[in-house]
Amino acid sequence: MSLKPFYRKTWAEIDLTALKENVRNMKRHIGGDVHLMAVVKANAYGHGDAHVAKAALAEGASILAVAFLDEAISLREQGIDAPILVLGAVPPEYAGIAAKRRITVTGYSVGWLKEVLRLIGDIGEPLDFHLKIDTGMGRLGCRNEDEIKEMMDMTESSSKVNCCGVFTHFATADEKDTDYFNMQLDRFKELIKPLPLDRLMVHSSNSAAGMRFKKQLFNAVRFGVSMYGMSPSSEIKDELPFPLKEVFSLHTELVHVKKIAKGESVSYGATYTAEHDEWIGTVPVGYADGWLRRLAGSEVLIDGKRQKIAGRICMDQLMISLQEEYPVGTKVTLIGKQKDERISVDEIAQKLQTINYEITCMISSRVPRMFLENGSIMEIRNPILP
Ligand SMILES: *Cc1c(COP(=O)(O)O)cnc(C)c1O
Repeated sequence: MSLKPFYRKTWAEIDLTALKENVRNMKRHIGGDVHLMAVVKANAYGHGDAHVAKAALAEGASILAVAFLDEAISLREQGIDAPILVLGAVPPEYAGIAAKRRITVTGYSVGWLKEVLRLIGDIGEPLDFHLKIDTGMGRLGCRNEDEIKEMMDMTESSSKVNCCGVFTHFATADEKDTDYFNMQLDRFKELIKPLPLDRLMVHSSNSAAGMRFKKQLFNAVRFGVSMYGMSPSSEIKDELPFPLKEVFSLHTELVHVKKIAKGESVSYGATYTAEHDEWIGTVPVGYADGWLRRLAGSEVLIDGKRQKIAGRICMDQLMISLQEEYPVGTKVTLIGKQKDERISVDEIAQKLQTINYEITCMISSRVPRMFLENGSIMEIRNPILP
């Protein structure tokens, strides 16, 4: 455990108690005999991969998923021994590295498997992979029964690879209209028929499908965005089987407060001009932290009240039009709760006309992560300091 300091008072709080509650609720929803796969790619959607992984495993997740081999190795380096599946493409020349670290990869084409068998060299244990079937996402995977059969035949006649799972990914599980979803599901069911399903982890659902269509779960669910307390889309918010608790919040504090006179301007381009004498506060967060310039004019919370960003957002700082004079050191919340007011991740997503997934991912690694459990600080990660 390390409590690394941070000297610029801008930080993200990761509420592991809320995360654990989301995992517990999902686990209860899917039932004891279905595996929960905790998706911790992209540094756990910006939350912090190892802490999220450990919290999810403690609540009954049986396997982790990431996007790249690098992310899986990073988890191993941080002491995590649980099974890990890499969902994206691992270049065949690195298959041996995955096998040595006991990392499961995704087998997505005949060409990929041929190259793996050619390049993998001498390894002790076989390389585990989950067979990926493309039923309509058009991203990775075998698209027909011939390809699947060829991959299974090649696997059976080699001692270097072992198929331990099969999966597909839905393109529209978070939309009200379920026609395309049902088409993909039917294709998947048809294509996996010849496989030895009793020996395989079989999974198709992301958060949206896992929460909405309980009966289609097969024996594992890939739980991502909702583990972090966010709805997979606004369209299906009213269909969620249990309330989600947001895990991520973002805070900073006033470092400079001054009065400016009517007619004076603030920030680059002098685009903001005071209409009357007013208090302006400066905070040390900017677009290099992921607080994009397009958020100019949006609100933050100070003293439980919404107050507006004044002028352009700079790389490392921004200014706020204060409703009254506040002392230096006053807490400013960009995402999260103060008193009875809340700025949700969804609100920021809406402002930027994007999805909530993108918001927590865009808060850069320059922002230290503070991990909390039951309200007390467990650890602080400040990736700037070695
Ligand atoms: C990212 C990802 C998930 C997680 O999706 P959520 O919508 O965040 O639950 C599941 N499966 C695959 C293949 C993914 O790439």
